[in-house]
Amino acid sequence: MNILLTGGAGYIASHTAVVLAQAGHQVTLFDNLSNSQKSVIANLEAITAKTIPFIEGDVRDTQLLSQVITEHHIEAVIHFAGLKSVAQSVEDPILYYANNVQGTISLLEAMQANGLNKLVFSSSATVYGDPEYLPYDEHHPLKPMNPYGQTKLQVEEMLHDVSRSNADWRVACLRYFNPVGAHPSGLIGENPSGIPNNLMPYVARVASGHLPELSIFGNDYDTKDGTGERDYIHVMDLAEGHMAAIDFLEKHSGWHAINLGTGQPHSVMELVTGFEKASGKAIPRKIVGRRPGDLPVYFATVDQAQKLLGWSAKRSLDEMCESVWNFQTKSMS
Ligand code: NAD
Ligand code: UDP
Repeated sequence: MNILLTGGAGYIASHTAVVLAQAGHQVTLFDNLSNSQKSVIANLEAITAKTIPFIEGDVRDTQLLSQVITEHHIEAVIHFAGLKSVAQSVEDPILYYANNVQGTISLLEAMQANGLNKLVFSSSATVYGDPEYLPYDEHHPLKPMNPYGQTKLQVEEMLHDVSRSNADWRVACLRYFNPVGAHPSGLIGENPSGIPNNLMPYVARVASGHLPELSIFGNDYDTKDGTGERDYIHVMDLAEGHMAAIDFLEKHSGWHAINLGTGQPHSVMELVTGFEKASGKAIPRKIVGRRPGDLPVYFATVDQAQKLLGWSAKRSLDEMCESVWNFQTKSMS
């Protein structure tokens, strides 16, 4: 199938591109490079030994998107393009609504103009907000706690309305938990600019000596060891989940919300210990106060993904840490 990946040079999209291309799909990548680099494309071509078309552009450019859809005979879209920093979304909500919500409207207009109706959307567990119960299932109330989460919920609701308006639409909103890890080649992975906000890339930079020590945000939570717990999912599992969603939409119309996680929470300390084992390096750390807005713990029920997509995550926390260290030492020196 000919599949367009918006935000195609980004972290999750690039891994998904590999999985799709290696399964015989033709992927076309579209990205404005606001949070990625063009050099990713050459690495994708090296991994897959295939030519991967790349178009530099903004998803808010409806005309350009429409042209790409026509020229590349696109049959389905995976919409990764978006901004993803919670803190930045609090500081500049207009930027987030313009990019994430307006960007999706533009994409839908381009799709509609071309009679294209198969869409996988990168949503997030952040749509759930403060847990009323755990693990979150897809029926949990949706109360995002910041503008970033609001943009994801607004897009989900818009896509729901669109699919109610016309039964031809096929939409899967994939609610990712905490994607980490890298492709086994070590050629692609998560490469945030500046000092990372997220735990895994921060730990990797401490292990490699680029940052002096990790600050652990609180060890007095009501969790197994007092540190925060998250449902970390290997990006290669996530990538395979997208391919399963594309296959699912071949056979099913309507709107579907599906958690993509492992169903297993891991604490900050477990991840740090796992990374020390994977890297053979000590991770200097100190306990500091809780990070404002952090939830103590959240994780997914994964039954829906298993039932609808026939997909479940396979890779362990150790494999996540090993793949990040491999990427760190091969590509980030
Ligand atoms: P990423 O920043 O690596 O990838 C997003 C890509 O979209 C970047 O390459 C960026 O340049 C591009 N982009 C942004 N705005 C664009 C625009 N207007 N037009 C064209 N391209 C644009 O992030 P990622 O971690 O790969 O995330 C991909 C998607 O998954 C995002 O929508 C994000 O919100 C969502 N998501 C990510 C996580 C996570 O923890 N990584 C969790 C849940 C959901
Ligand atoms: N965390 C930490 N130090 C850091 C970054 C994160 O202790 O430098 C903790 C954070 O408090 C949370 C967990 O690691 O309990 C995962 O944080 P991340 O930002 O990666 O994911 P999110 O909180 O957005 O789910």
